[in-house]
Amino acid sequence: MSLIVVGTMAFDDIETPFGKSDRIIGGSATYVAYAASNFIDSVEQISIVGNDFPQAELDYLQSKGVSVDGVEIVKDKPSFFWAGKYHMDMNTRDTLVTDLNVLMDFNPIVPESYQGAEFLMLGNLMPKLQKSVIEQLKTRPKLIVLDTMNFWMETALDDLKEVLTMVDVLMVNDSEARQLTNEFSIVKAAKKILTMGPKYLIIKKGEHGALLFNENNVFFAPALPLEEVFDPTGAGDTFAGGFMGHLAKTKDISFENMKTAIIVGSAMASFCVEKFGTERLKEISKEDIEGRLNDFVQLVNFDIKLA
Ligand code: AMP
Repeated sequence: MSLIVVGTMAFDDIETPFGKSDRIIGGSATYVAYAASNFIDSVEQISIVGNDFPQAELDYLQSKGVSVDGVEIVKDKPSFFWAGKYHMDMNTRDTLVTDLNVLMDFNPIVPESYQGAEFLMLGNLMPKLQKSVIEQLKTRPKLIVLDTMNFWMETALDDLKEVLTMVDVLMVNDSEARQLTNEFSIVKAAKKILTMGPKYLIIKKGEHGALLFNENNVFFAPALPLEEVFDPTGAGDTFAGGFMGHLAKTKDISFENMKTAIIVGSAMASFCVEKFGTERLKEISKEDIEGRLNDFVQLVNFDIKLA
């Protein structure tokens, strides 16, 4: 069961109240791929990097079973660069720099060997490129999930609205859901988004968990309360990787199974924030993941008797 992952591979400068990290590896597709590779063997990456991106990082992804045949390497340009600074609550951040660099003239090409993939994760990227990947697929995947952010709402809203009509699930955080709909109420925002194309909507609320909406159904999963959060960068993408990895592994896209996938995504995101960048994701084992999933079961497990 294969999963195509589309998105950025990047260098990030990150500042949190607890420390600073310069030019570490990041990017939406990087986090998604690392997380999903824990669940399935066939993660197929589509992205672009510059001459500065370390070959060792591409090799490492491959060692995790991620195909990088769809990652273009541009010899004479730098990789996408993003810098962000977190506020004291670690839940909100300011983007300080977004240098598109190689992304400016990216024209993603889906390798022939990726055709037939049943799952497609459109990670955070220019909406028109997300659309181009959907259009190149000869068979529509069973499930198309799209992640985006305020940057694209501000610079490419029309393209974003167009690609939204082509996907099954949208993943955004609460402030992005509000920005997209001009609604303060999350429930009203969700209702509006579900008329814009996606049948399912996931609203991520950082340390306050995530909500899944479909028709009149709503499901909520908390985030695991952690003693230490070092760096929330990539938590959303890691969540997406866990969510898609679980669905692709189980080949079941029902609402019930999406609930489990949300818990798996939340468990993966809880690892991501424990260290800077992708560091923690690179070291976790299957046992670590199982242990974390058990922690979630304990966290939400209660008996209630209604008289
Ligand atoms: P997250 O914290 O899950 O929102 O993801 C952070 C990652 O997204 C960082 O590693 C950045 O390199 C990447 N990123 C930041 N801005 C953008 C953007 N406008 N488009 C695509 N990826 C981005």
